[in-house]
Amino acid sequence: MSGINPGDEAISVVSTFEDLNLKEDLLRGIYAYDFKKPSAIQQRAILPITQGRDVIVQAQSGTGKIATFSISILQSIDVSVCETQALVLSPTRELATQIQSAVLALGGQMNVQCHACIGGTPIREDIQKLECGQHVVSGTSGRVFDMIRRRALRTRNIKILVLHEVDELFKKGFKDQIYDVVLLSATLPHDVLEMTTKFTTNPIRILVKSDDESTLEGIKQFFVAVEKDAWKFDALCDLHNTLTITQAVIFCNTRRKVDWLTEKMRAANFTVSPMHSQIVQKERDAIMAEFRGGASRVLITTDGLARGIDVQQVSLVINYDLPGNHEDYIHRIRHSGGFGQKGVVINVVTDDEVRILRDIEKLHSTQIDEMPVNVAELIRGNPPSHCLH
Ligand code: ADP
Ligand code: MG
Repeated sequence: MSGINPGDEAISVVSTFEDLNLKEDLLRGIYAYDFKKPSAIQQRAILPITQGRDVIVQAQSGTGKIATFSISILQSIDVSVCETQALVLSPTRELATQIQSAVLALGGQMNVQCHACIGGTPIREDIQKLECGQHVVSGTSGRVFDMIRRRALRTRNIKILVLHEVDELFKKGFKDQIYDVVLLSATLPHDVLEMTTKFTTNPIRILVKSDDESTLEGIKQFFVAVEKDAWKFDALCDLHNTLTITQAVIFCNTRRKVDWLTEKMRAANFTVSPMHSQIVQKERDAIMAEFRGGASRVLITTDGLARGIDVQQVSLVINYDLPGNHEDYIHRIRHSGGFGQKGVVINVVTDDEVRILRDIEKLHSTQIDEMPVNVAELIRGNPPSHCLH
């Protein structure tokens, strides 16, 4: 991975967890969680964050960003002080919950309290939990600010603020006067980067350029073109062999389209799960649990919610709608290549849309070929072709 630092400041690389001088109980928690070696981003970002620097991290999905700030937070807090010392803001409830799990797991040997402060849950429970003193709060901005207003969440002892997927947070209109910040995102559009300079002090930037070829390395991208939009569904059904051998995420651009496609696929006897923000939280949790456990194998979703999906098990991403911008395209397809693994992306497009793919190819110096007949064989976890019928 090529990290660049526009500030021209040398970034130290610490290649083992031991050399990061972490607290002993934290180090035990990390090993108990089966991490053996820090990822590239962890080797570069944990040290400056724990030294109290403002840090901006940009790296693709699945590179260990959540673990980066979770470990840094755990290193920086004092568990004997029952006050909130770190606050993480995420654009979705799923992400906030995922981060809570990571903090609790990595901090499993150190008695840490971490609360997920998210909408769709009883306010009274939040207040009670926060009263007991939560060392770390991972939440979505609406509920978190509500808790701060009610003085249930006391901010006086907060040492670390993490804005996770900061580009998404900003899209949702989030802005504030903030001092110690850690910003993380897979893509940082120029305007977001500019905005961050307003509330960071001499930040260290650890970035991977968005046009860096290596960020898409190992992800095979294909397209299937049909003449008319109405024929996309048949093209998708033609992929049924491919769909059943692996876990897949299908992207649509709107919630309504997600519901529509879910109905249509179910009618065609596919087992699929829809996932979008209009689905009640309990159900979303159940759907995600099913997907993580492997009981559900095809998830149909929109851009906003996809970031809560753990990328490690997804080896096929299908764009049923092409996303409205290149950043979302990159986000989507990175789900297919988590943590150094290889994945396949299939874009279902109309003939007219092929030129959009050509733009993406140029911009990201990547390659999107017409789908080969043997696409199923290219997918991770797939048995050799002679086992298929
Ligand atoms: P990101 O936030 O960049 O998308 P995550 O922090 O969610 O990445 O990590 C992606 C996956 O990789 C998770 O399942 C996480 O547990 C795993 N992971 C993160 N860091 C390491 C590590 N150092 N060693 C092994 N697995 C790791
Ligand atoms: Mg992520």
